[in-house]
Amino acid sequence: MSFILPELPYAYDALEPHMDAQTMQIHHDKHHAAYTTNLNAALEKYPEFFEKSIETILSDLNAIPEEIRTAVRNNGGGFYHHNLWWTELAPNAGGEPIGTLAEVIKKDFGNFATFKEQMGAAAMGRFGSGWAWLSMRSDKTLIIHSTPNQDSPLSQGLLPLLGIDVWEHAYYLKYQNRRKDFVDAFWNVVNWDEVERRFAEENSAAS
Ligand code: MN
Repeated sequence: MSFILPELPYAYDALEPHMDAQTMQIHHDKHHAAYTTNLNAALEKYPEFFEKSIETILSDLNAIPEEIRTAVRNNGGGFYHHNLWWTELAPNAGGEPIGTLAEVIKKDFGNFATFKEQMGAAAMGRFGSGWAWLSMRSDKTLIIHSTPNQDSPLSQGLLPLLGIDVWEHAYYLKYQNRRKDFVDAFWNVVNWDEVERRFAEENSAAS
């Protein structure tokens, strides 16, 4: 079974005005689709990896044959990160998390405003293409960090909970060089229910 591009869970224009319909369409139908196609193409020679989850693959890139490792790292990362991206966003969302995740954010970062500030700084500090992340360490504490290109937190033993895609393809049509405006707008469409669900699921999983 090859990896399948998930449907966008809402209309292309659902996140307007924060994320414009044309960017959403190209981002999903072209960029995410290409990562998916290229991941499948890379794995075709080693179909045993189609039996594994993308999380398992990215968590142990050394297990991938060297001739396709870079392709899997780039396109597997792109496939997986965008699966997260569409679900961690939603129309009529934003605000602040509630419940356990809110408590842990407070414990690890002081308060929500500081957390947002640090995550924004990670997004602004990533030179070139990449992601800023809120991830969970194996001891269940949270960390804000960033990765270049499509390198995955999973490959560093971290579980990503929330990412900000700072590739220009995520914002350039609407924001051009104004990455900060895009990052500020991002907070208006964060689907905290989904981030909380992910956090709770991982938090309750046996480690
Ligand atoms: Mn992207």
